[in-house]
Amino acid sequence: MFTILHVNDTHSNVIGVGPSNDYTPMSLNDDATKGGFSRLATLIDQRRQEMEQLGPVLVLDDGDFSMGTAIGAATRELGAELQLLARMGFEATTLGNHDFDFGPDGLGSSIGKAAAAGLVPPVIASNIDVSANEPRLAALKQLVKEQVIRPYMVIERGGLRFGILGLIGYDAYKYTTNPGGVVFPDPIESAKKTANLLRKQKSVDVVIALSHGGVMKGEDGQYTGEDVNLLHAVPEIDIVIGGHTHTALTQPLLVDGRPVVQAGRYGENLGELTVSLSGGKVKVESYRLIPVVDTIKGDRTVQQEVDRFSKESSQIVFASRGYSITQPLAVISEDWPMDYSDLESGIPLANLVTDAFHKMENTDTAFTANGMIRAGLTKGNSGIQTVYDVFALAPLGSGIVDPTAGSAMVKGYFAGRDLKSLLEFFLIDDPHVPGQYFPRVSGMRFYYDPSRSKFDQITAIELGDLDKGYRPIDTSESATKLYSLTSSLYLGLLIIALPKLSKGAVQLVAKKADGTPIKTRTDAIADPRESTGSHIPLPSGSVENDVVVTSAAQKEMKEWQAIMNYLVSLPNKNADGISMLEKDDRAREVRVIQAGS
Ligand SMILES: [Zn+2]
Repeated sequence: MFTILHVNDTHSNVIGVGPSNDYTPMSLNDDATKGGFSRLATLIDQRRQEMEQLGPVLVLDDGDFSMGTAIGAATRELGAELQLLARMGFEATTLGNHDFDFGPDGLGSSIGKAAAAGLVPPVIASNIDVSANEPRLAALKQLVKEQVIRPYMVIERGGLRFGILGLIGYDAYKYTTNPGGVVFPDPIESAKKTANLLRKQKSVDVVIALSHGGVMKGEDGQYTGEDVNLLHAVPEIDIVIGGHTHTALTQPLLVDGRPVVQAGRYGENLGELTVSLSGGKVKVESYRLIPVVDTIKGDRTVQQEVDRFSKESSQIVFASRGYSITQPLAVISEDWPMDYSDLESGIPLANLVTDAFHKMENTDTAFTANGMIRAGLTKGNSGIQTVYDVFALAPLGSGIVDPTAGSAMVKGYFAGRDLKSLLEFFLIDDPHVPGQYFPRVSGMRFYYDPSRSKFDQITAIELGDLDKGYRPIDTSESATKLYSLTSSLYLGLLIIALPKLSKGAVQLVAKKADGTPIKTRTDAIADPRESTGSHIPLPSGSVENDVVVTSAAQKEMKEWQAIMNYLVSLPNKNADGISMLEKDDRAREVRVIQAGS
């Protein structure tokens, strides 16, 4: 009998999920936040001690350990996630798609920092090839050489030999946004090869796959997906520790008795799988997800490290733009949810985000899609929303003009018909991810009729706002007036690619202010020198128009920065001088108006 304790997709959630101000791991039963690494550390220690009475215990992570929080924003400089996983007793991890968000050099730097600190679980990557001749791969190559990254590992414990392999699945590597020259060999083929090697050459008793592949619930309630397919395709694998889809499986999915498990996301649960072995076959004896909540006291050493990383990340990521990680930005009196499939409930937060973009650049309009708003705001005990909490709304991406964390804001100019094309594209829902593409706007409202044919649902577009009123714009082919629009770099790249993505169904040309087409990413970067926002950090020394920026870190406006600046600028303050964010008429305004509603 042996036990596997596991998590997946922790995404830098080293402190509990919920308003960060509420997270008090050293005092019990006073908050509703979930997860938090110091609590997880205590729980792992407790469960290991208890389960070791039955046999060996392994502690494993399934990747996507980075990207998603304000502390993860400094992963390249700190390698905090892996150091903390090692401290908590994790014995192996693998790589998920988001671990490549800062590029292969960023990932190499992050793992390298943890390795240099002597705190790194082996990174098991059976289908990742970093041998290409590219400078950005240098750090990863070195880590392969040092066997910090390796295709498999063997752990011998309690008289058993456990072979561990690690895979990034098809969906995951397809959505790896910044892999550079990293090549991903076929996961199933790699799994077959590695599992065979482990069985035949390494004589292991059990083969465990850390598979960043995922599972999905079908309409019939049955789970399918890559992590299940893997067991069908590779009989040599006994157990799949899954991830990527953020699925909290309350019981294992079985393929001829061999389990797939997954523990949700963000370290909100610890999975505990107990397995017996007879005649070379595994049998699940028990499985459960243990919620990581406020009944578990945090481990003091881990919490001290979390606090240290939090301070360092504050310096690295936020200080140059005038913020600190624990700084309160706003206080709310109710939740501001972002549930992609419930379009109505997300209106206030979407209006807030797009209004922030709009105000930052003072463009005619601002645009985002639901799926770009990565979290909601939760009231919790005090209602206080800190930099840490607000960063979670827009945590992804890194710079173009300067390399700092967070997606840059970009600006383009569009004719009326091009604005219409853009919005038409985002109105087409993807049934696999309902609501994720849904358009959200500021400085604009528009009317659409879903009973009309695809790419021709919008019946009118108006510019303006609730205070000044709205006036319709000409979207005919002959109209040439250009309107400015702000969005995140990620969406900007998508917008420029729309003619290709829609296979020609949508035609549009994003332009610069002078009417010439935007050709490079840098062409579209919103330059703080042109911004009217009130919280742009000014460079030190004398200011000349052409050479304003004295430090690269101050050069580009971030998506998260726009939202934070906007919150700070809200006129109503509480007794402590903190902005009060209320769901007023502006917040509740419906700007994407369905015909007949
Ligand atoms: Zn993933």
